[in-house]
Amino acid sequence: MDELTQNQRLSRRGILQVGSAALTTAATLTVAAAQDHHSPATTKTGPQNPILEAQNPDSAHSPETDNGTVSPFKYSFALARTRFGSGGWTRQVTARELPISKTIAGVEMRLNAGGVRELHWHVEAEWAIMLYGHARITAVDQAGKSFVSDVGEGDLWLFPKGIPHSIQGLGPDGCRFLLVFDDGNFNEFETFLITDWLTHTPKEVLAKNFNVLPATFDQVPKKELFIFQTDLPGDLTAEQTQASRGTGVVPQRYDFRTSQLKPTKVTAGGEVKIIDSKNFPVSPIAAAIVRLKPGGLRELHWHPNADEWQYFISGKGRMTVFAAGTHARTMDFQEGDVGYVLQSTPHYVENLGETDLVFLEMFKADHYEDISLAEWMAHTPHQLVDQHLHVGREMIEKIPTEEMVITSS
Ligand code: MN
Ligand code: MN
Repeated sequence: MDELTQNQRLSRRGILQVGSAALTTAATLTVAAAQDHHSPATTKTGPQNPILEAQNPDSAHSPETDNGTVSPFKYSFALARTRFGSGGWTRQVTARELPISKTIAGVEMRLNAGGVRELHWHVEAEWAIMLYGHARITAVDQAGKSFVSDVGEGDLWLFPKGIPHSIQGLGPDGCRFLLVFDDGNFNEFETFLITDWLTHTPKEVLAKNFNVLPATFDQVPKKELFIFQTDLPGDLTAEQTQASRGTGVVPQRYDFRTSQLKPTKVTAGGEVKIIDSKNFPVSPIAAAIVRLKPGGLRELHWHPNADEWQYFISGKGRMTVFAAGTHARTMDFQEGDVGYVLQSTPHYVENLGETDLVFLEMFKADHYEDISLAEWMAHTPHQLVDQHLHVGREMIEKIPTEEMVITSS
């Protein structure tokens, strides 16, 4: 790393380390920006939004390597409209909010203890990760086989497309989780709900369907429940036994315990767990859970088989997307942000914070694939690589022959 780059790096970290309170004045921003040798010599005039600019230092003063126009690839859940129900809340980031994200949409949801996400289904497959607390999930497959399970922080589930399911918060404090769908145009507010369906079916038909009196359905809610508060569920084993009577349980589990999966890769800079159909057979969605230590780098790479949808769970970092034809853009990410990178488009993610940066890489693909710059260079004739880059044969020969995934500063 040359001295100029090191200075730039320190300056950037300096900006990020300044407390948010100190950044509430434009004057502070100007001082911090003046330390960056790429900053314009004069103070910017015009409207200022110091808090937003402090969260996006690479937008206010981009690296000099950024150039041209790259379609927006960041949206924050903090900007999404939150919909409240009696049992919790939810909000979504879809292709309507972030137009580039055509292959995947995401939903954050919080359910109180006893709060239920109503029995429903949708055309798309649903992948989920528990971010807090405990929940009971239920589903029934096309053979009438049952699935009832309790999940906790770090656990995943996958409901295949069209499979009906529910989620309920357990004690002591319910749960919070992220849902990921394999279509950017998914809409959590327009799923097939059991109350909505029955309310829009003639009672005489319902009566005939179940061989009961039409009045049986007088108390079905006229308006969808969606997210509602009710009592906690009963004993897990008892509910599993009752639900599976006559048909049994689903042949492949819909839940996955990430705590029981050893990291796919561990380096000095962090670790990654890859979960795809190789270890979670029901999933048509591939996932990488990445943890970068402070200074750690998710190395320069791309994905040849699918677009990448990212969700930042904790920490602060930046990503540069190189969109070819001289276009490159760097954006900053923090908790609750969504990022998106098109198929085969190169990028890196760097932890610029003081704590671990934890994020998800999600793909509409049944298996995970990537190609790293270092791996490509290591396995191409070194003379040819050096004739392009002039970095010296010695540097190229020192690149590890096995893919690093995560490097440290
Ligand atoms: Mn669902
Ligand atoms: Mn990636």
